[in-house]
Amino acid sequence: MVPIGLIGGMSAASTALYYERLNALARTRFGGLHSAEIVMWSVDFAPIAELQTAGAWDIAGTRLADTARRLEGAGAGLIVLATNTMHKVAADIEAAVSVPFVHIADATGTAVRRAGLRRPGLMATRFTMEEDFYISRLAERFGLEVIVPDAADRAETHRIIYDELCRGDVRAQSRETYREIAERLVARGADSLILGCTEVGLLIDGASAPVPVFDTTAIHAEQAFEIACGAMATA
Ligand code: GLU
Repeated sequence: MVPIGLIGGMSAASTALYYERLNALARTRFGGLHSAEIVMWSVDFAPIAELQTAGAWDIAGTRLADTARRLEGAGAGLIVLATNTMHKVAADIEAAVSVPFVHIADATGTAVRRAGLRRPGLMATRFTMEEDFYISRLAERFGLEVIVPDAADRAETHRIIYDELCRGDVRAQSRETYREIAERLVARGADSLILGCTEVGLLIDGASAPVPVFDTTAIHAEQAFEIACGAMATA
């Protein structure tokens, strides 16, 4: 496999899940003592989160593009940005490197369509749920009709991500809150659920949801692994 270039730290709690998953995939695929070839740059999330709040996406894009360039220089054969939200600046990153960029929305859209589903509910940060970069990509490339929570549920979903999950704080009460938000999405017609934030899988899994669940962290890691193994193209 070619080394996977992982831009992590957004947050560290979910980057650990990528690292675990990629190594588990390598063990399963190759057996024995095999593990995944990974070059990781894990950023400090606090200044990135400040740029998000300030709407300074161009500065964040320049920083992450620079990080991707360093990973390519260190031998990465593909780039994986371990956060949905920062895919808002995916174009900056793609333009900065000559190796493939594995887009998290494309990996997810492919998985939802493959399962024959069309109306996923989306639980994510407010940036991902309310701005256009993610939902329109799922609509245009995969024909998905994404349903987002109502305003109060979006605010609470976002708050739990930043105030708890990104700090490694996993609470039973928030698990219950997420379950209720997911149920309201299903009541409004969602046929599936996209965990569109790489930390949301810390609170929801397939067993606790009433519809099929698509965990972007797992799907993204799996697609990156397949590409690194040469089994799949990025387009
Ligand atoms: N990891 C999260 C996501 O997938 C949120 C943190 C961030 O804003 O990058 O969107």
